Amino acid sequence: MQDYGFERIGKRLFAEHLVGGNFGNISVRDGEKGFFVKRTGTYLDDPGDPAFVPFHGEVPKDASSEYRVHLAVYRKTAYKAIVHAHPPYAVAASLEADEIRPLDSEGIMFCPLIPVTSGDPGTQGLADAVTAAMLHHKLVIARGHGTFAGGATLDEAFQLTSLAEHACRVIAFRKMFL
Ligand SMILES: [Zn+2]
Repeated sequence: MQDYGFERIGKRLFAEHLVGGNFGNISVRDGEKGFFVKRTGTYLDDPGDPAFVPFHGEVPKDASSEYRVHLAVYRKTAYKAIVHAHPPYAVAASLEADEIRPLDSEGIMFCPLIPVTSGDPGTQGLADAVTAAMLHHKLVIARGHGTFAGGATLDEAFQLTSLAEHACRVIAFRKMFL
């Protein structure tokens, strides 16, 4: 099947310690029909063929357990790709804030305000909260859980994820010098 870059981006997520184990997931929109998403339980750096989730119709049983977020975001926005990761500094920062304002130059330039949303993993509540935030922001953090980033390509969504983790790391490291 067509190579959507799942394995390439999955390997980068692992290389930058943005996910661990078989957590996190990525998806790519297929026009108005639906989207391809990593299968549940597979590793991001060895994803195999993704599952196809139609916008209207039955969701395959082995689609990522977080498919509801992807489905809700694609239905309400024009993003063509979504990356969901569990970057530790971003997750830690989200525990203590309702929004995060990067201090480093790239963070200020590309995502000056990162909203923090809430909702239990795998629920429609999380899907609705993330979608509401992603109408105005390409990247959000689900509190104590992880990042959701949307873009025109998987690369753009990945880069935003990496940028957010870097920004949160700088915020944390800065405290050592105060
Ligand atoms: Zn997750």
